[in-house]
Order: sequence, then structure tokens, then C-alpha cells
Amino acid sequence: MDRIKVSDLEVFCNHGVYKEENILGQKFLVDAELFLSLRRAGRSDALQDSVSYGDVCRLIDAEMKKQNDKLLERAAERLAEQILLAFPLVERVKIEVKKPWAPVMMHVSYASVSIERGWHTVYVGVGSNMGDRQAYLEEAGDQLSSDAWIRGFRMAKIIETEPYGYLEQDRFLNTVFAFSTLYEPKELLERLQGLEQEAHRERLVHWGPRTLDLDILLYDDIITTEADLVIPHPELTKRLFVLEPLCELNPYGVHPLYRKRFVDYRDALRDDRRSKKSQRHATRL
Ligand code: ADP
Ligand code: MG
Repeated sequence: MDRIKVSDLEVFCNHGVYKEENILGQKFLVDAELFLSLRRAGRSDALQDSVSYGDVCRLIDAEMKKQNDKLLERAAERLAEQILLAFPLVERVKIEVKKPWAPVMMHVSYASVSIERGWHTVYVGVGSNMGDRQAYLEEAGDQLSSDAWIRGFRMAKIIETEPYGYLEQDRFLNTVFAFSTLYEPKELLERLQGLEQEAHRERLVHWGPRTLDLDILLYDDIITTEADLVIPHPELTKRLFVLEPLCELNPYGVHPLYRKRFVDYRDALRDDRRSKKSQRHATRL
């Protein structure tokens, strides 16, 4: 991907674990590599189609001086976050914060920390079958769309569906949320579980009634294998109530593991349902 790079920007400030460092201050050098498409600016020659590296330097200088961190990790994390929030064209950023005068009592060129951060595309499956179902879905949508670490929030049409798994329960309202986020997968899961708790959700019966269920369906193209966070969601290809809203928001999407389009799964399940219905009809005749 195209990139804009600033190297060895000098900033004098006071980060460090030792209190002497916080008082005396020292020189830091910052590298920032911004990943974004430069094609439009390359054709238009207009600054508004790109990111001003002067602005990037000023942001780094101000952010580095804003507070005293103990760790270079913290300073780098703040720089990455502020760059991603301030320049919407930037999809990903690499930051390296170097300390040439690191107090290690030996000679080093510098000690440094490098991180890479970016916006991630996420699809979340949403369901409710208790209480004011629509209000629970909408409240979750409002909370997420006003979160500073979430942008481009979209919500599919809400559909009403029969219960799945445990059948002795009320009908569900289902939808899918799509957005970009700065949350890492586990952080996003915690954020979503926080919303489930705010909706007074209690885990009584597995697949049982719930005020709000928020499942991470997709997170970029990642594939995970841990029990507490399986992505892509393992039930995704089996549930029409997930595939219908997912295909509305992401009509050309491809399953990262099986390399098949979601619309193909959806169409197969629709056919399945249709043939079951006609079988039931035939046995009744
Ligand atoms: P379900 O969604 O299957 O009806 P729960 O909402 O009670 O059940 O989720 C149970 C656990 O599933 C959560 O504690 C979470 O750690 C785990 N889990 C695994 N993968 C995911 C995922 N992709 N999204 C959300 N939760 C997940
Ligand atoms: Mg869940």
C-alpha cells in the first residue's frame, strides 16, 4: 500500500521511568509511516486528497509534549491513536519512538519501541428476544456509533425470526452491525459484552432467551482458534438470520476460511427452507 513517511522527527520532552528523566527531559526521535491510498492525490495534485506531513509533525510534537509517560510504549500508542483519529484517509500507521540518550549506562545508538495500528472492518451479529427487543438493538447501535474508536457504523434492516437451538422461547429480532474500529479483537469482545451486561443480560440457558446478544462474525480476514473468541463466527454459515442482514451490508463478501461468497450460503439456506416447506405441504395433502 502507498505510504507517507516522516523520519527522525526530534522532540524534546520528559518521558521515562526515572524521575530525573521527567525533570530534565531528553531528546526523542519519532518515525511515522502512514498507509493510505495516494492515487487520487497523485492524479489531482491537491493536498486535500492526501495528508499534510507538516500537520503530522505538528501533531506528533504536541502529543509527545502533552503528558509525561513512563513508557515509550505508551507514547507510541498515543501517537498512533491520534494520527488515526485526526487523518481519516489513513488506514494504518507504523510508529517508532526512539530514545537516543536512554539511561542504560552504556553506549547505544538508541532504544526504541515500534508499533503498528489501524482501522479494522468488523461485522457483528445482533439478536434479542426478551423485553423491548427493538429498543435493545437500537441502544446497542447508538452506543457503538457514538464510540470514538468506531466509525462508518451501519445497521442492516431488522428482521423477526423463529428461535434457534432452544425452541421454547419467543421470536427474535435480528440484525447485523458493520463498522470500522480501532479496538483489537479481544477489546471489542469486552466492549460488546459490556453492552450485553448493560442490557441486563443473564446467561441462563445456552442459546436461550436473551435481551441482547452481540457476536463478532468477522474481523477483517482474520481466523482465530481460541475458544473464547472464534472468528469467523462458527455458526455464521448455518444461520439465515445472520446471513440475510450480513448480505445486505456486504453483498460481495467472501468467507475468509472457506473462500465462498456469503450470498451462496444464503441462497443454499433459502432453497433448503423452501424445499422443507413444500415437503411439509406435500405430506399434509
Ligand atoms: P451464543 O452467542 O453462542 O448464543 P453467548 O453469547 O452466551 O452464546 O457466548 C458465549 C461465549 O462465546 C462468550 O463468552 C465468548 O467468549 C464466546 N465467543 C467465542 N467466539 C465469539 C465471537 N466470535 N463473538 C462473540 N462471542 C464469542
Ligand atoms: Mg453471543
